[in-house]
Amino acid sequence: MVKQQLLPRGINDPKVLEVFNKLPRQLFVSPEQRPLAYGDHPLTLSRGQTISQPYIVALMTQSLKLQGHEKILEIGTGSGYQTAVLAELAARVYTMERFAALTEKAAATLQKLGYQNICFRTGDGAGGWPAEAPFDCILVAAAPENVPPALLKQLTADGGRLIIPLGSALHQELTLIIKEGEETTRRVLCNCRFVPLVTEK
Ligand code: SAH
Repeated sequence: MVKQQLLPRGINDPKVLEVFNKLPRQLFVSPEQRPLAYGDHPLTLSRGQTISQPYIVALMTQSLKLQGHEKILEIGTGSGYQTAVLAELAARVYTMERFAALTEKAAATLQKLGYQNICFRTGDGAGGWPAEAPFDCILVAAAPENVPPALLKQLTADGGRLIIPLGSALHQELTLIIKEGEETTRRVLCNCRFVPLVTEK
């Protein structure tokens, strides 16, 4: 997976590559899908949701340029695979998922693997996690049309990074937003296809 899918496409942060080498991705998918766990594609989870393609997880992670001290908010826990990657590279991860069944399954998998720096919550991630804000980084794994204002507000003004797919079901752009004071800059990294961010508002 690392040699064929990540390195040739420009994933070159040694710490990110090391995590992909060591994390047992097969533990995050159903037993029937285990033989496919390291393939170059997303896989299905329950409730019509998906675990993202390894390259996209790596690209999103690398774009955050993690140093190890960060407090991160993740929206869309899904299987918990991306959560584990973040928990390896940052100080603390707060992760939100709208389906309780997925939160519980991911929490059990990550507890079995021994992670102690992850907080889980079931709920609509579009509102963020105000009690724990500000966050150094926010990673969103489901696509809204526009950036939810609460997320931008909960990002630290001191170089905070938000990585988020933006667009419709048919066309989305993986976008990196950096916040410095009142200013934000945006850069599109690539086209992508995530499940929609389903919000109550
Ligand atoms: N990163 C995950 C993949 C997540 S798929 C992994 O590695 O497995 C996107 C997830 O976002 C789905 O589980 C979906 O249920 C969740 N989601 C969609 N809208 C949401 C919302 N408003 N709040 C929280 N989670 C949401």
